[in-house]
Amino acid sequence: MPSVESSSAESHRPGVVRDANNLIGLDYRAEAAKFAPRPRPIIDIHTHILGSQAPRVYLDVAAAYGVGMTYSQTPLPGVDEVRDAMGDRVGFIACPNWSSPDRSRAFREGYLADMEVFRSRHGARMMKIWNAPRLRDFFPGQEGADLVTIDGAWRVKQLEAARDLGMAVMVHVADPDTWFATRYAEAAKYGAKRDHYIGLEKMLDRFGMPWLAAHMGGWPEDLDFLAGLLTRHPNLHLDCSATRWIVREISKHPREVFTAFMERWRGRILFGSDIVTADDHVRPEKKTPGHPKSDQASSPSSAFDLYASRYWALRTMLESDYDGPSPIADTDLMMVRPGEHDEWSSPRLRGFCLSPGVLDDLYRGAAERFWGTLT
Ligand SMILES: [Zn+2]
Repeated sequence: MPSVESSSAESHRPGVVRDANNLIGLDYRAEAAKFAPRPRPIIDIHTHILGSQAPRVYLDVAAAYGVGMTYSQTPLPGVDEVRDAMGDRVGFIACPNWSSPDRSRAFREGYLADMEVFRSRHGARMMKIWNAPRLRDFFPGQEGADLVTIDGAWRVKQLEAARDLGMAVMVHVADPDTWFATRYAEAAKYGAKRDHYIGLEKMLDRFGMPWLAAHMGGWPEDLDFLAGLLTRHPNLHLDCSATRWIVREISKHPREVFTAFMERWRGRILFGSDIVTADDHVRPEKKTPGHPKSDQASSPSSAFDLYASRYWALRTMLESDYDGPSPIADTDLMMVRPGEHDEWSSPRLRGFCLSPGVLDDLYRGAAERFWGTLT
């Protein structure tokens, strides 16, 4: 990742390294102290905590930003070391072992076996089904017919297992509109965005446990569509994870539209960041070839900035009246309009000053009630 010593940004403090997670030279530790203290610790319902050292940096960030409890999608082989690092400040969400050499099995019967271990040994009360359109790249053509749609044969088996284990379901159903306009432009392969919700709605009706649709249900660009989904399916909840995507798209909505949406759906929207940690973030050499995000940081201090930037951006958008550039570079801008943007471009970030009651539900109350329905 390119990293430059900035001397141009006016707000930049001398000695603070500016990089793609800190375009405006913020001191993220000092910034954390500027937020109003939370009356109750925040629950982050959506992270991917991996490694033995990176979780310790993450814990430092979480403490600074008021996050007291984190739910992580850590593949089974990595759970013990994350538990050792975080103790009772982490809970686990069952997910497939995506780095297994036998991916076909890991996403099918292997996942059924892993779900049972997650439940019995690690207390997991939610499982994840990741049905991003690009699952079609991993399981092309007929090879993936039983897996790539949310109501495919293997998904049904996994949901039956979740029901038997008393688990809720987290689902990733779609990706940004920017991706459908570019990398998913081949509609015959990836489908239209709306198509991905047909199977989801069938499964929401068929399986009545609580569901959590990640990344504002995959459609932060269209709040009316989300309101329809939430109306039709009382068992559906959303999380606000995927910081870059959420900040870029939610900031575009008129203030009264987004604040009304959050008021109306209080208790159905949970706070999540989608922070990904890895030990490659805390060392210069990369030992996990193929990890898609291993080059995002290379020292404990740059890892601190990487993780903190997500909490800073989300809390600033939700709580403050900030109106300015996001500190996080967003290459989706360049993907859609290459002539106007480069790899250092970032979108507008707008603060919505949500009310204290809405914030308390979003940061904690909704998650408490979500888990409470399972006991
Ligand atoms: Zn995620």
